[in-house]
Amino acid sequence: MAEIYDIVIIGGGAAGFTAGIYAARDRCQALLLERVAAGGQVLNCEHIENYPGFPDGVAGYTLGPLLQQQAVQLGLGVRLADVEAVRLEEDLKVLQTGDGDIRTRALIIATGSSFTPLGVPGEEAFLGRGVSHCAACDGAMFMAQPVAVIGGGDAALDEALYLTQYASQVTIVHRRDTLRACRLLQERAQANQKLTFRWNTVVRAIAGEDVVQRLHVEEVRTGAQSTLDVAGVFPYLGLTPNTLFLNGLVPLNARGQILTDLWMRTAVPGVLAAGDVRGDSARQLIAAAGDGATAALAAIRYLRTGQWRDGDAEAL
Ligand SMILES: Cc1cc2nc3c(=O)[nH]c(=O)nc-3n(C[C@H](O)[C@H](O)[C@H](O)COP(=O)(O)OP(=O)(O)OC[C@H]3O[C@@H](n4cnc5c(N)ncnc54)[C@H](O)[C@@H]3O)c2cc1C
Repeated sequence: MAEIYDIVIIGGGAAGFTAGIYAARDRCQALLLERVAAGGQVLNCEHIENYPGFPDGVAGYTLGPLLQQQAVQLGLGVRLADVEAVRLEEDLKVLQTGDGDIRTRALIIATGSSFTPLGVPGEEAFLGRGVSHCAACDGAMFMAQPVAVIGGGDAALDEALYLTQYASQVTIVHRRDTLRACRLLQERAQANQKLTFRWNTVVRAIAGEDVVQRLHVEEVRTGAQSTLDVAGVFPYLGLTPNTLFLNGLVPLNARGQILTDLWMRTAVPGVLAAGDVRGDSARQLIAAAGDGATAALAAIRYLRTGQWRDGDAEAL
C-alpha cells in the first residue's frame, strides 16, 4: 500500500502553509496539496497593509511564494493536485486525486473560498474578455478605459482603488446605500476623484461584442433600468466556501462553511479545518494563518495521544 502520511493539508493559502510550517517543524510526514498556485487568495491582494511584520505593506504575489518557501525549507512536501473527494477508511482519511489516492492519519482542510458569481448573463462568456476577479493581474489592461467594480466590502474597495491607477473612471456598483468596507478604505475611496458610486444598484447583464462594452443595471428601489459603458467589470460580491468536494464528510453551517471548535477540530476525529473555509473565521490573512497554526497543533496532539475532543487545550 502507498505511504500513509501523518498530516495532509488541502489548500496552499495562508492557513494551509502555516499549518504546514508547524507540521514540518514537528517532523511529521506532512504533505500539502494545492490545485492552482501557492498563496491562494493572497494572489488576488495587490497590496496588504494589515499583515504584521510588513510596515510598508506587502504585495500578495510576493507573500504567496514566501509562504511556500518557508514551509518547504522546513520539510513540508508540496504537490500540485486537486482533491476531488475524501472518504474515511477506519481511522484513515483517503483523498481522491487525479493521480490516485492519498492516505493520511490527520487531515487539515484549508481550501478557502472562491468568488461568488454575479449569476447574470454574459458573466461566464466574458470571463477573461473584460470580466475579472483580479485587479492586480488584469488592471493594466484597462488603461484609460472605464471599469466597474461590483460590491461594497473591503475587497471591492481595495480593488477599485487599485484600478484607479489605470482606468479612466472606476464606478462601484453596490446594491445598498452604505458600504461594509472598513472606514480607512471608505475615506480613501471618497477622496479619490476617479471613483464614483452607483448606490442601490444591481447588475442584470454584461454585454458587448467580442469584449465587455456595457453593463445593464437596475436601481433596486425604483426598478429603473439603465446601462453603464465599461470595458472591464470586477465582481467582488463575496465568497463561497470550497467545501462541495467534501460531500457530507463533516458538518457545515448554512453558508456551507465547516463547523469547528476553537481548536479547529471538526466532528470527525482527525479532520480539522482552518482559514476562510470554516465558520466563524475572520476571513483575514492573519486569522487564516492563526487557524493554520492552531489546527496543526491540534492535529499533532491527536497523532500523539489518539484523543480527539476528550481532553482540553492544556494537554496540547
Ligand atoms: C481581493 C481580496 C483582497 C484581500 N485583501 C486582504 C487584505 O488586505 N488583508 C487581509 O488580511 N486579508 C485580505 N483578504 C482576505 C485573505 O486573502 C483571506 O482571508 C486569506 O487569503 C484566506 O486564506 P486561506 O488559506 O484560508 O484560503 P485561500 O487563500 O483561499 O487558500 C485556499 C487554497 O485552497 C486551494 N484549494 C481549494 N480547493 C481545493 C481542492 N479541492 N484541492 C486542492 N486545493 C484546493 C485553492 O486553490 C487555494 O489556493 C483579501 C481577499 C480578497 C479576495
